[in-house]
Amino acid sequence: MSGKPRWACSMCGMYSGRKYSVRRHIMNLHGGLSNIVSFVDYLAGRRQATYYFPNPIPNYMMKQQVQSPTTATTRPGEILKDELFRTTLRKRLGLR
Ligand SMILES: [Zn+2]
Repeated sequence: MSGKPRWACSMCGMYSGRKYSVRRHIMNLHGGLSNIVSFVDYLAGRRQATYYFPNPIPNYMMKQQVQSPTTATTRPGEILKDELFRTTLRKRLGLR
């Protein structure tokens, strides 16, 4: 893997440090029908089940942090936790 994962394909979870790589992937594999999302949003979206993927979570370095990707969260306390989760992810990934 080269570089930090910054961008992800919202349809299948392919990710890359380079946005154009994800864009090219979407054009080639999904006919342009998927969306580019930031990797952090992708992870948070998985956690909230905002996006649904039949595939298992990709094999990446922060696997241990995503414990319950299918758990839907609606309570305010859970939303706050989600913000902390995103903040932690950004720090861990070196994103701003
Ligand atoms: Zn894809």
